[in-house]
Formats: sequence, C-alpha cells, structure tokens
Amino acid sequence: MRFLVVFLMAEFSIMSSAFASEKPFSFKDTPGKLPKDVVPTDYSVRIVPDIDKLTFAGSETVKLNARRRVRQLVLNALELKIEAASIDGKELPVSVIKTDANELLTLALPSELATGEHTLTLRFTGKINEQGQGLFYMRYREQGTGARKIMLGSQFEATDARRFFPCWDEPVFRARFQLTAVIPENWLAVSNMPVESEKKIAGGKEVRFAATPPMSSYLNVFVAGELDFIESRSGPTQLRVIATKGKAEMGRYALQATAQILQYYNDYFGVAYPLPKLDQIALPGGFGGAMENWGGITYYESKLLFDPKSSSAETKQDIYEVLAHEMAHQWFGDLVTMAWWDNLWLNEGFASWMGSKCTAHFNPQWEVWLRRELPRDPSRRVGIAKEAAMEGDARSTTHPIQQPVATEAEANSAFDDITYKKGQSFLRMLESFLGEDVFREGIRRYLAAHMYSNTTTADLWNALSKASGKPVGEIAAGWTEQPGFPVVKVKRGQDGNVSLTQERFTVNFTKVPPLEWKIPLTYAVLGLPAEASAQAGETPATLLMTRKLDSIHNIPADRALKLNVNGAGNYRVEYDELSWELLLGALKNLGVEDRVNLLSDTWALVQANRGPLALYFELVEKLPASTELAEREQIIHVLDFINRLLIGSSEQEKFQRYARSLLRPTLDTIGWEAKPNEQPARTNLRSSLITALGNLNDPKIVASCRERFEAFLTNPESLAPDLRPAVFSVVGRYADESTWNELHQLGLKTTSIEEKQNCYDALADAIDPKLVKKTLPIALTDELPTSRAVFLVLRVARESGHPDLAWDFAGANMKALLAKTDALGANTYAPSLFTFFSHDSRAQELKTYAKNNLPAASAAQVAKALDEIQFRSEFKKRLAPQLSAWIDGKNLAERQESRLTHH
Ligand SMILES: [Zn+2]
Repeated sequence: MRFLVVFLMAEFSIMSSAFASEKPFSFKDTPGKLPKDVVPTDYSVRIVPDIDKLTFAGSETVKLNARRRVRQLVLNALELKIEAASIDGKELPVSVIKTDANELLTLALPSELATGEHTLTLRFTGKINEQGQGLFYMRYREQGTGARKIMLGSQFEATDARRFFPCWDEPVFRARFQLTAVIPENWLAVSNMPVESEKKIAGGKEVRFAATPPMSSYLNVFVAGELDFIESRSGPTQLRVIATKGKAEMGRYALQATAQILQYYNDYFGVAYPLPKLDQIALPGGFGGAMENWGGITYYESKLLFDPKSSSAETKQDIYEVLAHEMAHQWFGDLVTMAWWDNLWLNEGFASWMGSKCTAHFNPQWEVWLRRELPRDPSRRVGIAKEAAMEGDARSTTHPIQQPVATEAEANSAFDDITYKKGQSFLRMLESFLGEDVFREGIRRYLAAHMYSNTTTADLWNALSKASGKPVGEIAAGWTEQPGFPVVKVKRGQDGNVSLTQERFTVNFTKVPPLEWKIPLTYAVLGLPAEASAQAGETPATLLMTRKLDSIHNIPADRALKLNVNGAGNYRVEYDELSWELLLGALKNLGVEDRVNLLSDTWALVQANRGPLALYFELVEKLPASTELAEREQIIHVLDFINRLLIGSSEQEKFQRYARSLLRPTLDTIGWEAKPNEQPARTNLRSSLITALGNLNDPKIVASCRERFEAFLTNPESLAPDLRPAVFSVVGRYADESTWNELHQLGLKTTSIEEKQNCYDALADAIDPKLVKKTLPIALTDELPTSRAVFLVLRVARESGHPDLAWDFAGANMKALLAKTDALGANTYAPSLFTFFSHDSRAQELKTYAKNNLPAASAAQVAKALDEIQFRSEFKKRLAPQLSAWIDGKNLAERQESRLTHH
C-alpha cells in the first residue's frame, strides 16, 4: 500500500504547481545512473557461444571519449564474469574490477585518465538464458523433419544488452556497434547490419557484421541457427523474412507487407530508411511479441508467419499491424530515440499510432480504428485499444504518460497500456485537431532535426507547434504530464444554449485530486432521418475547451447533439436527460463510430456509478438491428464481462438467457458459412459471436461446434481456418476427458503454430475442475515455447472460471514459471493472476503474498491488482440486483404485451 500513498502525494504536487514542463533534450541533463563524463563512440564485440554448455565467451574493444579527467570508468554489466580489462593497452589488475548489485561495472584506474580518446578492452564470459533476456536459446522441432533443434536469439530492451557485453546501457549513450560471432558452419547469423566477411575457423565459422550507425545499446540484435530466408528489394533496401528451416515461405505475406509499409514510411517521414537492409526474423519461442531492433526486427513466429491453409484472417491482420508498429520504430525509436525511459511513450505511443494509421490506410476493410476502440484478448491481439487504456486510466493506480523512471525495474514496468494506448489515443486526437497534413509536417521537422540523436517530448511538441502555429505543448501537457482524463457533462438549456462542464472521470477512486484539461472538443448536431445523407461527410465543429465551464450556442431545441464525433477524442461524455432522450431518438442518424462511442461511454458511466445498468441496456435495445462488427463486439465485450463477474452467482443463468437473446439474432442473420468474397469484418464478427454464444452456454451453438469439430477430426478441410479458434475454444470449454485428450493429442502432433495455439487455448478453456488440473501442469513442460507456457496459466485463470485453481498451481510452482518469463513479465506475473478474482478476501491474500515474495518493483502491479479485485467485488454487488430488476422488468413487460395481443 505504500506505493498508493506515495502516488497520491505525487498527484497533489502536480496539481498545486503549474506544469513543470520538461526541457528539450540535453545530454548532460538526461536522467540515468551512469556518469556522463566518459562517452563510448565505437564498440567492436566478439562473441563465441558454447551451445552445449549454454555459456558464451566474449571480448570487446570500446573507443571512449573522456570529456573531463576521471579516476574510474563506470558502465553496465549483469551476470557477466569479467576476466580481464585494459585501458589504452595497459592491463588493469583484477582487483580493481568491481561489479555490483546496481548492475554497474566499475574499473578503478591506476592514474587519472586525460581528456580525449581512449581504448578500453574487456574479456568476459556469460550465460545463454532460457527466458528471453539477454542472449537466450530456443529449442524447437524442425518443420517437416520433426528433428529437435536449438537456436539463439537476443532481447535487450529495456536493460539487458548488459547481459551480452559490458556497455553504457542507457539509451542516451549512442555509439556504433560492430559485432563478430563464431557459430557452427551450417548456421546463419543475423544482426543489425549485413555480413561484412565470413571465414572458416576451427569449430565453425567467424561471421563479422558491418558497424551500425550511432544507436542506443538496447537496439542491438543477434540471432543464429539453422535458418532459411526469402528476400526481395525495395529501392536500395534489401528485405528478408528469416525463419527456422522449412518455414521461410510462410513469411511471403510479411515480405510483401514489409515492402508496402516501407514505402509508406519513407514518404510519410520524409527521411528514407537509413540502413542497407531490413530483416524480419521469426523466433520459435523466447518471447511473445516483437522487438524493433534496428535493421533486424524479431517476432514470436505467429506474429510474422502466415499459412494460408491453416491461418485465420485475424492472424493476417495481426501480422500486418505488428509489422507496421515495429517498422514505425525504425524511425521513431531507432533513428530518433527517447533520451530516457520516462519518455518511453515517444517510442511506443507513436509507433502504436503510426502502425494503426498505416494499417488502416492500406486495409480500410479491417476497420482498424474502430476495432481499436475495444479491449482485446491479449493473447491474440497486438493490444492497441483506446478503451483498455481509458479503463486503466480511470483508476487510482494510473500514472501520467510521462513518468519518472529511476531503476531498471521501473523501466521494464513502463511498458503498459498507458504508455502504448493512451499515447496512441492522444496522438490521434491531436492529429485530428491539428489536421493530417500539418501534423505530418511537424513529424518531418522533428525527424530531420533529431535523426541519429535523442529527444524528449518537448522536442516533439516544439516541432508540431512550429508546423501548426498552435501552442501544442500547452494543450498536450495536461494529457501527458498528469494522470487520468476528463468527462464532459452536457446540459441543454431552453434557448439553444448548451452548457459544458469538465471534471476528472474515475472508477473505484474517491477523494480524487481535481484536475483540468485543455480538451480539443468536436461536436455535431444531428439531422432528422431524411437529412442524414446530406450531413454525411461534413466536418464536425470544434471547440478547444480550456476551462472548467464552457458552452455551445444556437443548437435547435429539437435536434440531438453528439459530442466527441467519431469517438476520436480521449474523453467521456455524460449527457443530461434531455440530451440523452434526443440522442436515443436519433440513433439511426449516427454512424457506427459514434454508436460504438456512445456504447463505450455509457458502459463506462455504469462502471463509474454515474448511471444505472438500465442506461446501457436501454441503449443496446434501441439500436437499429445491425451486423456492424465493432458495434456488436462492444456489446459482446460487456456481456462477456458481466458473465464472468457472475460466475457462481444465482443470477448467471437468467443473465445468460437474456444475453443470448441479444446476440443470437445477429448470428442467425449472417449464418455459419462464409459467403464467397465476404468482407473480413463479417468473418471476424461470426467467430466473435460463436465464441461469445458458446461462453453464454447456448445449447445450439455448443452442439454445432461439437459437430464441426468431429467432422474436422476426419476431414480438416471441412472447417474453415477462420472458424477454428472459435470452434476449438467452445469444444474445449465443455470438454469431457476424452475430448480433452483428443485436443491434447492434436496439439502435440501438429507442426502448425496456429493449430497448436488453438488446441492449447481450448485445453485452457475447459471448465471442468478435473480438466483444469490436467491443463495447468503443461505450463511446466516444454510442449509450448516458454512465453506461451507461462501464458497458459493466465488463460486458465481467465477462461476456466477457476482463477483459484490457477493461482494455487502458480503459487506452488512460481520459481519454475518465472524462469520462463522475460524481463517484462517478472513483476507482473503473480499480481496479474489475481485480477480475475472478485472477492475481497483475495486482496488480503495478495497483500500477504506480495509482502513475503515480491520485489519492491512489483508494487505498482500489486496496487493495480488490488484495485481490480476491489472494483470487481464492489461492482458485482451493485450489478446483480440491477440486472435482475432489468431482466424481470422486461419479462413482465413481454408477458403483458403478449396477453394484450392474445385478446
Ligand atoms: Zn513498440
């Protein structure tokens, strides 16, 4: 709880002073642990891995520039044994080499080092890890032959390059890196730059890569193994997709997409991609996502490889969006890098926004922005969603987009929804406020001014201000330097005046420090149905709301007023009764973006206890019948949330019946079978509905899924790849032991990444506690890649309805599970398992567990989990009677209606 108290005090201090806006980038003022009087300029690193012992030997020469006279050198090293060190050719005694718990390597020098150029050489040894930290290994079965193989990969962000070689491992210490590695003769090695030379030596070959341009240490990459690739060119840039032998051809889609995206970015940024090659590398394990290493991007293989025979349309969309995100980083993050981790959002918020913008540009049929509105299953999606960010940002445990980072652990926990998704939403709002062309002009200025250097957020705002002539820094400060976001309350007056009031929007958070924002508002007056078409395409009116109170005038009394047009703004709107009635009457005139925005805001108001549950369901029932993907998915998301909250309660069955009655008509309309040339949105909607109705225990859907699964077993072609995740999941959920075994065998046998995932997801979804106990121990085996294995337990906690069993298992096996987790997972894993509980007693249990077992760096994650348990517990108590009343009221009304019609 200490964290929470400290946090609230921090908020008060922000409130009481004007924004302590940060300064433009300056090397000497950048935070960090390392002294800035010695700066590395060129590294030459040689690594010799020992695959049998899972260790490596290394040596390096680093050219240094001493900016003033020093008596010691301080750099980073972690889990490396330093065997020897010398400065300017003079060997240092081993006694002056010190490594410490702060991940620092200190070399005391025999005499003062003069200012100017020097050369440091080091010899060292290190470990090849199981989890995706530093240099790591992956065991996998080769495609086709099924032979057991091993390969190597690296993951250095945020602070793990220091596990590979001693270095100034803070982003501001840009340097040129030249890597040499000794590997078996039949292996292919990949790094940031092309191979410069290769020669046979005893025991293998020595591969020397060209030196990189000046960049941050965390962007280094080294991958080696029995690999294949396919390649193409885009202008001067060589493009490759690299995968383990037999899988490269599955990168065809990614290779084509890469060429398309590269061209778009070359144009958008106004700076051509600066390296001679760009490799997209598929790894069969190690981590779950992707990493933007400059010139050599790594992906968990299902995020890159696509098999048209067994992959679903969703997978294709995922791949495109992840590619677009990581490639945006080649400029935003790699060419220009945030000075310190407190500005991580400059990398991640920007890449998320740019990736979605590019994906939407080339694939309008995917409804990218619309679907980004919704919280997604983190196991399947890139996880870019405005709503997910807003949900977290409404709680007491949120933080500003820009937050102080002091330690390595804090750097790692900065990779969260606020950094990625709120950052993205804010940029989208800003772009629509400044205009697309002006915004792009600002971005071009920013890149041109700062390439091969570091920046702070202030540098970006300055560039955008110059391009737009607007005080961007002033508008932005409220959104990036303070936590949370506003709700705008709308009150209609008699004389065409509408008064607006802003206040902070919170959920499960009382005693809230009052904050204000400069809100770039948009609004539209809705026409009568006949005029709807005339209004389409009109640009919405805008108003920069700079105070607590504001107003809009001359709104005709009989017209509905909709704020936050298209839902592009990062704020909620609360309408008074009159405005709400007018809106309900004008739903037919609203586009799907605005309907989704209304649904999301209304659900949020219910969560925040600003409105009754009936408000949401009244809106749902008044919506015109539709098969719009994003609109139906918003409703599915809410129904699913309520369904999970009601597990074990007497209201659940009644609720499930009601929820099915809301969803079934849509599935009946679109049918089970895809029409030829169907829009992808329709295909996605079908699988969302099948999964949702399966979860809601719809007997017809469950039976249909079982039939289709049986048919699949004898003839896999009979079940379309798009339907497989949904059908497998529903079959797994209600599986008996023999079905569970069948799914397991299927998962063990298949070499298709996606089919394997479908099978193990289905195992994790089983609700029979006997089967839950069979699924969990799979996480300790090597049946799944490490990152997938640890995720299996989380999936059980969420899907099986038995978070207690998942936690019992994880608590007993925590050490083995954490050994499979990468740097980002270490602090979050245990607390995240608690977020599926909705009983207060679990909060106490988590507190005790955290006190005895978790490092201080987990405090933020623990606080978030405690808040979530508390919220769910309170919400459940509040929701159940309201839900009963709503459904009973409806049933009564229906009975009365049918009595009337029978007479
Ligand atoms: Zn990223």
